[in-house]
Amino acid sequence: MEKNKYAQQEEETLKFWKKERIFEKSVEERPKNAPYVFYDGPPFATGLPHYGHILSSVLKDLYPRYFTMKGKRVRRRWGWDCHGLPVETLVEKKLGISGKKQIEENGIELFNQTARDMVLNYTDQWQEMVDRIGRFVEFKNSYKTMDTTYMESVWWALKQVWDKGLIYEGRKVLMYCPRCETPVSNAEVSMDNNYKDVEEESVYIKFKLKPNQKFKNYETKDSAYMLAWTTTPWTLPANVALAVGADIDYSAVRIMGVAELYILASKLVEKVFKGKEIEIIHEDIKGSDLDGMFYEPLYEIPAVTNSGNKAWYVATADFVTTKEGTGVVHTAVIYGEDDYALGLSLDLPQIPLLDSAAKYNKEAPGFLQGKYIKDAEEEIVLDLENRKLIFKKEKFTHSYPFCWRCDSPLIYNAISAWFIDIQKIKDRLIELNEKINWYPDNLKHGRFLNILQTAPDWNISRNRYWATALPFFKCIKCGQVECVGSIAELKEKATNYDEVYGGKTTDQIDLHRPYIDKIKLKCPECSSIMARVPEVVDCWVESASMPFAEFHYPFENKETFEKRFPGHFIGEYIAQTRAWFYYMHVIGTLLFDDVAYLNVVTTGTILSESGEKLSKSKQNYPDPWNIINSFGADTLRFYLMNSVVMQADNLFFNEKDLREIYNKVINLFNNITNFYDIYSDIKYDRKLNLSQLSSLDKWLLSRLSNTVKNTTNFLDNYDTVRATREIRSFVEDFSTWWLRRSRDRFQNQELSAMQTLSFALKTLAQISAPIIPFTTEYIWQKLKDEKDPISVHLSDWPKVDEKFIDVEIEERMDKLRQIVEMGHSLRSKNSLRVRQPLKSVYFNYDFKDEGNQLEGLILDELNVEEKVGEKNIKKPDGLEGGELKVVIETELDADLLEKGDLREVIRGLQLLRKQALLKPGDMVTAFYRVENDAVDKFVEKNKSVITKEAALETFNLKEDMEEPLEVKTSRGKLYLKVSENSTNKN
Ligand SMILES: [Zn+2]
Ligand SMILES: [Zn+2]
Repeated sequence: MEKNKYAQQEEETLKFWKKERIFEKSVEERPKNAPYVFYDGPPFATGLPHYGHILSSVLKDLYPRYFTMKGKRVRRRWGWDCHGLPVETLVEKKLGISGKKQIEENGIELFNQTARDMVLNYTDQWQEMVDRIGRFVEFKNSYKTMDTTYMESVWWALKQVWDKGLIYEGRKVLMYCPRCETPVSNAEVSMDNNYKDVEEESVYIKFKLKPNQKFKNYETKDSAYMLAWTTTPWTLPANVALAVGADIDYSAVRIMGVAELYILASKLVEKVFKGKEIEIIHEDIKGSDLDGMFYEPLYEIPAVTNSGNKAWYVATADFVTTKEGTGVVHTAVIYGEDDYALGLSLDLPQIPLLDSAAKYNKEAPGFLQGKYIKDAEEEIVLDLENRKLIFKKEKFTHSYPFCWRCDSPLIYNAISAWFIDIQKIKDRLIELNEKINWYPDNLKHGRFLNILQTAPDWNISRNRYWATALPFFKCIKCGQVECVGSIAELKEKATNYDEVYGGKTTDQIDLHRPYIDKIKLKCPECSSIMARVPEVVDCWVESASMPFAEFHYPFENKETFEKRFPGHFIGEYIAQTRAWFYYMHVIGTLLFDDVAYLNVVTTGTILSESGEKLSKSKQNYPDPWNIINSFGADTLRFYLMNSVVMQADNLFFNEKDLREIYNKVINLFNNITNFYDIYSDIKYDRKLNLSQLSSLDKWLLSRLSNTVKNTTNFLDNYDTVRATREIRSFVEDFSTWWLRRSRDRFQNQELSAMQTLSFALKTLAQISAPIIPFTTEYIWQKLKDEKDPISVHLSDWPKVDEKFIDVEIEERMDKLRQIVEMGHSLRSKNSLRVRQPLKSVYFNYDFKDEGNQLEGLILDELNVEEKVGEKNIKKPDGLEGGELKVVIETELDADLLEKGDLREVIRGLQLLRKQALLKPGDMVTAFYRVENDAVDKFVEKNKSVITKEAALETFNLKEDMEEPLEVKTSRGKLYLKVSENSTNKN
């Protein structure tokens, strides 16, 4: 595709920045002791950049550029998140294996080596995009979470937390991916909404109560059943109890003609027995009456029987509701959060029926052993149906979590893991949140506070391979655990360090599995062998450690880091509130008892035009490269920074809106610049001569100063939406009002107009530079003088010049433009073309200006000859709006009509000159043909004026013209054409 002219211009600017090392200079030239600290959340190295990354890249470029111009030194270093499931799934694909069993058969060494080799595969594509979008960042010198130095700092961090007694090993019900065979965090699953609505078969199951049990003043017979409901039939073999609500009302119900009695919550009877004729036998049962009643297990599990713990009975629990199901909850202790809590409190047997890949193990009923849970569900239901234990089946749609990496359905599984105790530091987390400036600010006491308040303990372990190894060593005999916080400590405590890492420097040591797994320690308690626990670290521990780990703190760069903590600014999209933002806050609080960052900007998510998630396979969004090539990166940057996505709302990406930014913002910047260019050869003193300024200039400079003031204010408050609005409205006024109304002054080379233009354009370029760095650099190159830095990005942020701020003139100009608008609408109501001069106008506003400059503007703009008293208008038409009243003379005399016709003809000729690409000095021959004598007479009479004003060599009648331009006059039509040859007068 052909590249847009601005896109080409931008590519030239990129070359200029590289050649002149503008980014490096913009950092080096600012004082070391005035840092503005920006932390960059490292992206996964294994994906390709998309709109979300472009958005955050623009944001992460804008503020560093802004604060650089304000005199701060802003170090910007790229980082890569190298570890974790994203790359591990790719490695499995590449090696053609799947699952942990095969990984281990092939060897962890090969697996991790492959991961290391492929993790940085996409860096070129990243660099290309990051560069092209105009982001200034040290890309080559990036830090990587897989560096030994980085990993050692993560160990140090864990050791700090360990020493505070805030890490424990425990068994909890976690979301678990059976394919990746590891727990995944709720934060990861919720982040990009990996919950999907799925339709599944739910079943109502009959649990047969043992006969001759008393409840209330009733007694069970041989055919009484508790009716329970589940959406996950695979959990049924693991059932050990039924839960009811102590205060919930239950009924015993019979279907007419059937002997069986069913017990369920009274509220749900109608729903469950819909369409059936029933008889309610008892309706005065409370859940507490059922407590302790035994039922026959669906499956006799020997391990449960042999556990010695009581099982297969009804218990009361407070999580039971009557929202759906039957008000009787089937409980499989290990496979549900509530279930597990109930299991612990009642000491129910905890017998796992699954292996780590969610296949039934040897404790499970024989027909299920070795089968994957989802594949076995149908058989379980069929088996229960055959045994007449299924009451009914029903399709049920619910929101179900899927693995954020491999898309397998997750299960809830009570597994052993390592946790940071968040509950103990929760108050401090909430307290420190008060120190953070959130943008938008409703997140502070809204979403983020809520995340802090409800935060569970942090599971920092993953049962995987490619990540920092958990530095915990456990005694194989007495269970004592040691946490190692550095390589030096490892060397000191290991019994076989030299065997594994002997003679190697820090850089050469590989702390990854399987090498670290070979290290053994001696137990300080019982002198037995201590071996590393098999788990690796949750990658969020790593990315939250970036403020210090990128510096290899505290082993190196101690002072550097301490001066750079906390950070001034971080920015990411909203899902990071429960991920990176949260984990950074936790690590900052745990290690330094301080916030990790002072200002945080949260963006929304970019969706397709119709509001769907952007999806490569659906192709529901335009390729970012096409957008950049057809509109330029600045258009995209401005569009994003101006949109609701910067207020943490969803943005429906829309090419139409993007085009509008192109037309109404970027084009206007360039139009003003091109206009400036026409007169750029003229030498004149650029310094404003204040005494010479016209009212129009004073107005523009007042508007400019206010724009500088407001933009500064908005950017200081991280509000790009309002900052870009300010700029947009100023550039519009600048171009479509000041410049348009000043054209004649430029033709006369009026000094104050030229000075005002160069001053305002240069200042505008500076305050827009962080947002649209390319366009403004282009402008700067045309406007800078010998004293100026070579790039706008090395210049200092402009100060507000209060002396230009003139409230009155802005107010008057507002009124003026209202009057003009009313005048124009009166014209169009009376079908009076703008080029047709009018006799007179009346308006009821006194501009009190010297030399009637402002009134003059109105007459010029409305093309009216004079302002008169209202009574002097013969054929008036008027309009009132607010306090303003405008009346125009609608009658046209012959003289006015002739003037109007003349304007039409001259404009037609100018249009033709423009189409022929003629410059102002070029002389050309033109021809005409007329419709009638009246037009002919008119042309003859005005020939010399037309010839002069349209810069024509000759203007002659010619009957045969191909595709002439048609011009309508008050007398009839006229046809025009210019010859293709021209001569230059200059
Ligand atoms: Zn998975
Ligand atoms: Zn021991």
